Amino acid sequence: MTDLPGRRLLLVHAHPDDESINNGATMAKYAAEGALVTLVTCTLGEEGEVIPPGLAHLAADRDNTLGAHRMGELAAAMKELGVTDHRFLGGPGQYRDSGMMGAPQNADPASFWQADLDEAAASLVEVIREVRPQVLVTYDPDGGYGHPDHIKAHRVAMRAAELAAEPAYRRDLGDPYDIAKIYWNCVPMSVVEAGFARLRAAGRDKELFPGIASPEDVPGVVPDDEVTAAVDTAAHAPRKAAAMRAHATQIAVDGPFFALSNDLGQPLFPTEYYKLVKGRPGAAGREDDLFAGVDA
Ligand SMILES: [Zn+2]
Repeated sequence: MTDLPGRRLLLVHAHPDDESINNGATMAKYAAEGALVTLVTCTLGEEGEVIPPGLAHLAADRDNTLGAHRMGELAAAMKELGVTDHRFLGGPGQYRDSGMMGAPQNADPASFWQADLDEAAASLVEVIREVRPQVLVTYDPDGGYGHPDHIKAHRVAMRAAELAAEPAYRRDLGDPYDIAKIYWNCVPMSVVEAGFARLRAAGRDKELFPGIASPEDVPGVVPDDEVTAAVDTAAHAPRKAAAMRAHATQIAVDGPFFALSNDLGQPLFPTEYYKLVKGRPGAAGREDDLFAGVDA
């Protein structure tokens, strides 16, 4: 294990694009600083809607080739962020996108939503015991906004963190390892409100986006006092925007704003926020470094 970089960050996400939207600047920052940044994506996002009309044929109800295309988008995004270690849970295509909550795809036996929790967690335990991250980032129990794959990604990440530390659990998957700090993605309400105020003031809703979203459309919004860490990633915001742009089937970026397939404009947040749910905070107030207080 001596050849691993001193600081190691693991992120667990549901679909290609979630990592760039939620943590793109954080990933770019720590990668630039020499940390090992490992991304595990749980599905290929096969059920996503496609924004560019010229690529609409990729969608699940037409050619059903969106998954392979999004693997390419993810690889391009990782190049923008300087992240070289990105993997799919259990290998590419092991778990299929479950679609939005309530969609018939939720019942597909191949879907991530239907996957056996401990079986999926075992694949992640193997990654955890290999890269030995001090910090794990994933979603809150609601997956930020209730998408089944995001909820499942949360459950798999939390279960795998527990099992990885269990001395008696599956020694064939590596030596036991206890992740020091676990964070959930979040955005403080005041930042979301200020972002939408900027968006309305810029009048961009009239130019690029047919409408603007509302704060309730932003995943993981929490009262300000629930946020425990704010990573100042402003210097890496351009790389975040470039990574989001690489997910062209899913995201339309316009300056400091972007829209998903619902065409509703929303602010792009250059500072990224987190809630510490396991481990001791490394600062008295809000932390500004996810590795604060850990041995590296
Ligand atoms: Zn997603």
